[in-house]
Amino acid sequence: MKTALVTGASRGIGSAVAVALAQMGYAVVINYNKSKDRAENLAKVIAESYKIPALAVKCDVSIPEQVSEMFSTIKENFGGVDVLVNNAGISSQKILTDITVEEWKNTMAVNLDGAFYCSKEALPYMISKKQGSIINISSMWGQVGASCEVHYSTAKAGLMGFTKALAKEVAPSNIRVNAVAPGVVMTDMMSSFDENTVAELKEETPLQRLGTPKNIADAVAFLVSDKAEFITGQVLAVNGGFVI
Ligand code: NAP
Repeated sequence: MKTALVTGASRGIGSAVAVALAQMGYAVVINYNKSKDRAENLAKVIAESYKIPALAVKCDVSIPEQVSEMFSTIKENFGGVDVLVNNAGISSQKILTDITVEEWKNTMAVNLDGAFYCSKEALPYMISKKQGSIINISSMWGQVGASCEVHYSTAKAGLMGFTKALAKEVAPSNIRVNAVAPGVVMTDMMSSFDENTVAELKEETPLQRLGTPKNIADAVAFLVSDKAEFITGQVLAVNGGFVI
């Protein structure tokens, strides 16, 4: 049985991705940082519903030592991961001059460095098997830039560069690396936006609706599947037409 690790899978998009990969038959590792109960509950529901192994593992992806520990646990239980979804992310809204050095570094550390640490740990096993798939969850704001989210936009743009460069590097080992760039998706991440702003974002979206975590999970499932076997180094925009 193949194994998938989804970082930040305790809530929102990550938990929908974990369910989608379980439905495809992957044993799933549900990484969380703070939401222990939600991650453990999701693992239980997945194991019971799809009769496949599911394990919740705590790890702050911004701390390389914790990422190494998580991969030791994965090695003991599953040998390694065949699919890695770098989904864990944080965002905040403020003008550049108000962003503290600590906030800047933390935004890079979780959204970008975490993908580096996890990919570095995941690749030796994938290379030894000459197969694997890495999906990085970027954002449309990484594509076009968001005012008051320069730190977040920078990290998400970095993830796209990371995706393209790594895709070239590991393609000879039959490992594909792609990114998904979501538009506005209703999750806890959107909770800091007031009702009017959310309504405006909805109106600005040509399809006139906001995305669901499942919309993003479906795109990840496609990129992981054999139907995407010739696709690597790409950024799949799933945004209702917001950025074309
Ligand atoms: P969310 O509901 O806020 O969930 C964030 C997830 O990331 C949680 O599971 C959280 O785990 C985890 N996480 C945060 N910091 C972490 C850390 N240091 N180590 C490990 N896990 C950590 O966000 P979401 O909307 O589902 O976002 C998922 C991804 O999609 C993010 O990369 C986000 O930037 C991207 N995205 C979202 C949208 C959107 O509109 N929602 C749009 C574009 C891109 P704990 O709760 O356990 O700490």
